Amino acid sequence: MQGIVLKSTGSWYEVEVSSGDILSCRLKGKLRLLDLHTTNPVAVGDSVELENEDTEIVIAAIHESKNFIVRESPKKKYAKHIIASNIDQLFLVVTISSPRTSTGFIDRFLMTAAAYHIPASILINKQDTYSKKDLLKQDEMLDIYRNIGYPCHLISALDKKNIASIKKLLTNKITLFSGHSGVGKSTLINALQPSLDLRVGEISEKHDKGTHTTTFAEMLKLANNTYIIDTPGIKEFGIMNFELEEIGQYFIEFKALMSNCRFNNCLHIDEPGCAIKKGVEEGVIHEERYQNYLNILEGYKNNFNYWERKN
Ligand code: GDP
Ligand code: ZN
Repeated sequence: MQGIVLKSTGSWYEVEVSSGDILSCRLKGKLRLLDLHTTNPVAVGDSVELENEDTEIVIAAIHESKNFIVRESPKKKYAKHIIASNIDQLFLVVTISSPRTSTGFIDRFLMTAAAYHIPASILINKQDTYSKKDLLKQDEMLDIYRNIGYPCHLISALDKKNIASIKKLLTNKITLFSGHSGVGKSTLINALQPSLDLRVGEISEKHDKGTHTTTFAEMLKLANNTYIIDTPGIKEFGIMNFELEEIGQYFIEFKALMSNCRFNNCLHIDEPGCAIKKGVEEGVIHEERYQNYLNILEGYKNNFNYWERKN
């Protein structure tokens, strides 16, 4: 019997089967021994095969997933923790104020999405609250991201503004929602599907306590074949084990120009004949994107773990 994993606690899994029933399962013994360099062999979104074992139902096999996104395990250094598998699209919920989402945060998210080849969109929430000044900042943000091809949607989860059009975009897909806490993800998910009744405004302290808490994503069913993945407490995803030269490729508007750089391992910092720097000077690449790129690069360069892993 085949099913899809909706929830995982690390030892128990909730699996939806074709009848629509949700079964509580363990992992079959041999699967627990698999060393996949991850701390969790099964994640939400995985398609699995179930079997009866004694009086229980167990996950006996895991189908290969089309993609997955990871972060470094909160429990074990250098180990991957899979947040979710088989994701069709990523929606980043942001706000201009209360709280402010920086373009630096947005760009790290978009870079991860590009690295996993998962389409990403930006949802700018709390439209009902913005001052004239906020709206000007929003225009700048739209100018950056729409120009390079990222869909941006202006919504208000509270007033249900543009919620119907977001709902349409979710149909027959697995969509992962992310964003700072307080931007309105729970409110938005409730607006999309009131019966889910997520608790709003409860930023669980447990999640913020630091490195030793594992937070699990949860997949929620909106309709047949339509799922959303909520990532409470997961602040950032990451890509692991990559070369510094790769980062530029994950800035989608850099990609086309990069091939014109004089050196093929150009990091686009101050190398002669760099097409990216030229693009910034000519206004083809937005200055803020370039700054965020440099910050990300610097972060990885200074990251002791990165060099320790590499050398
Ligand atoms: P989460 O941490 O991302 O899940 O955010 P919540 O859904 O818990 O929302 C945080 C706060 O923002 C709550 O007080 C919500 O009522 C409020 N909020 C969410 N969406 C909107 C919106 O569109 N407009 C306004 N004015 N407030 C909102
Ligand atoms: Zn270059």
